[in-house]
Amino acid sequence: MSLPENPIDQLGRRLGVLRLSLTARCNFACPYCLPDSQEPPGLLSLGQRLAVVGAAVRLGLHSLRLTGGEPLLNPQLEALIAAVQPLRAEGLADIALTTNGSLLTAERARALRSAGLDRITISLDGTTAASVARMAGLPPGPRAEAALRNVLEALGHSVAAGFDPADGALKLNAVVQRGRNEDQILPLARLARQWGIELRLIEAMDVGTRNGWRLEDVVPASAMVQLIGNRFPLEPVGRSPGATAMRWRYVDGKGTIAVVASISTPFCGDCNRLRVTAEGIAYTCLFACQGTDLRPWLQPATDPQALREAIGTLWRGRSDRYSEERQGPHAGAKEMAYLGG
Ligand code: SAM
Ligand code: SF4
Ligand code: SF4
Repeated sequence: MSLPENPIDQLGRRLGVLRLSLTARCNFACPYCLPDSQEPPGLLSLGQRLAVVGAAVRLGLHSLRLTGGEPLLNPQLEALIAAVQPLRAEGLADIALTTNGSLLTAERARALRSAGLDRITISLDGTTAASVARMAGLPPGPRAEAALRNVLEALGHSVAAGFDPADGALKLNAVVQRGRNEDQILPLARLARQWGIELRLIEAMDVGTRNGWRLEDVVPASAMVQLIGNRFPLEPVGRSPGATAMRWRYVDGKGTIAVVASISTPFCGDCNRLRVTAEGIAYTCLFACQGTDLRPWLQPATDPQALREAIGTLWRGRSDRYSEERQGPHAGAKEMAYLGG
């Protein structure tokens, strides 16, 4: 086994995490994300995705996050997870999934676990059907009620399948927007405490061009922490190198919360994330205006060496620090459902 090359970007950062989007489609239509209803042309095959992950692992990647759009819409999800297992011998240490959870049945949770998935993050922005309807872009009424019920059941299915929240193998993501679901912060914290799951509260970001982002709609992470801390006292844990979340521990021992403060406290300094869209375009920043199409090295046949060199060159040339330089709403980037969060 040859040692990974582990390229360093223009700001001294190493590649650590790949967020691989498996589909641009979603069964939700969260207004802060606004996915497309159709796939882009030229979706990568399972073999091509495996080649991308393999190349990235040989460049030092340790963590793979499968995302979308809604990754559970992809029928090859479990097959891909099984196919990347041999890469653990080459340094792939962690395989995670981000999902809205609405399609996560007991059977699917078991299948994901047996395929070799390590961790699941379920996204849920409210504990009432009305707030879920608002945040997921669903019509209020039976559809939103069913979505909420399914996501809550998905928590149980995940635990039963072996994704233990105490080990960090099951987490809850919530995007918070002023005037939309601020009132859900405490109910979500209560729900997560009941399950012993880490709740990760996310400042809504100005990704893409169509979510109508406004700075005044962002609830700063400090305000979210204060709100929860006033009810359930917290002490700071900090942010691990390369991580997106700042963590806090409940003083009563009932677990942790985390905040992803990309707007109020950017963390570009140690950003180790590469994103690859469902059709094989690589982005070195959520806000990058331009991506690199990897398909020339994937078709008609995969050229592993050239693919690795292409990704390595892309990483070495990277100097992104968009959130640290933000001067207002962003224009011209890809939508979140392509980039995978
Ligand atoms: N559909 C899956 C889900 O919602 O978990 C996976 C894809 S989604 C793009 C990944 C994560 O990005 C979710 O937790 C979602 O809440 C978050 N997200 C989407 N748009 C966002 C935005 N504008 N600002 C902050 N987070 C966002
Ligand atoms: Fe779908 Fe996830 Fe985007 Fe919501 S955040 S629309 S669930 S891809
Ligand atoms: Fe990384 Fe770009 Fe986000 Fe900064 S803005 S943390 S460089 S993805």
